Amino acid sequence: MGQMIEGRWDCSSCGRKMIPGRCKHCPGCGKGRGEDVTFYIADPNDVVASDVPEQGPDWMCEYCESYNPDSAKFCANCGAERSGKTYFDVQKEQEAKQQPQPPVARSAPAKKGGFLKWALIALAVLAAVFFLGRPHDSDASVTAKSWQRQIAVEVYQWVKDSGWSLPDGAVMQSSSREIRTYRDVFDHYETRTRQVPESYITGYSTQYRDMGNGYFESYQVPEYGTRYRTEEYQEKIYRQEPVYDTWYEYTEQRWTYDRTLTASGADDAPYWPELTLIAESEREGGRDEEYRMVCTDKDGAHSLRMTQTEWEKYKVGDNVVLTISASGTVQEIKKK
Ligand SMILES: [Zn+2]
Ligand SMILES: [Zn+2]
Repeated sequence: MGQMIEGRWDCSSCGRKMIPGRCKHCPGCGKGRGEDVTFYIADPNDVVASDVPEQGPDWMCEYCESYNPDSAKFCANCGAERSGKTYFDVQKEQEAKQQPQPPVARSAPAKKGGFLKWALIALAVLAAVFFLGRPHDSDASVTAKSWQRQIAVEVYQWVKDSGWSLPDGAVMQSSSREIRTYRDVFDHYETRTRQVPESYITGYSTQYRDMGNGYFESYQVPEYGTRYRTEEYQEKIYRQEPVYDTWYEYTEQRWTYDRTLTASGADDAPYWPELTLIAESEREGGRDEEYRMVCTDKDGAHSLRMTQTEWEKYKVGDNVVLTISASGTVQEIKKK
């Protein structure tokens, strides 16, 4: 147990301050301690030499509202039997009365204003996008047409290659043992050090517990700090070990790209280039076709890629209407 310190209290009736905790009544006006009494420490050196007879808090008589010592079974003022309320209960009630109400109503309109501001900004952005991003129509005429058709030719021939496996039908030229990958192999332990934080007591501070009867009890509270200590530990050390495998150099017969045949024209009927293949050793590798048209309006020329069906609907000199997006690309073409 810590030391006992005598507290003080103020009289609400005559205004006398610093009345010693041992006084149950105000020495100035004689009024007993009431519900508006709060004990406090004036000087931590007001240590009580002998033991304080009362350890428990005072209790308040519910009839005359005066405080009585813990040991009293009846109120010294009016003689009523002890009731339940202690000094701490009364303190709690007093505190609750003084608690200010949180201002709820005022924050709501501010939030609403913020929302309205953002809604207006969003609306303005949407409107800007709508008006600036609107596509527009433009009168134009077809000034050029072109087409191109291509056929790739593949040839079946011997090719050189290499790899970690030998494909079916390949002819091996050479093989060798090579490093394919590395794996981690445990080698040894190494003793290393690291800093480990630990908490320790740097000192004590004195705190005071209100006894609720005019006295306070002091007690010590430890204060903590953090320090680091060096700790040894064993770290696993690995080494890289090569993993060998067989690397093959080989030749194999394979279809490979050889050449491209091209046919092209302007405002005429498209056709495929003449395909002449060497039997057994050559084959068609794929076809590609492209149809383009140039339309010119007041802003200049627009080159359009289109399907053959669409392309065939137009001739050079035709008048057309182009639908042009905000970014300048042609979205649609119509005959005028
Ligand atoms: Zn007084
Ligand atoms: Zn009483």
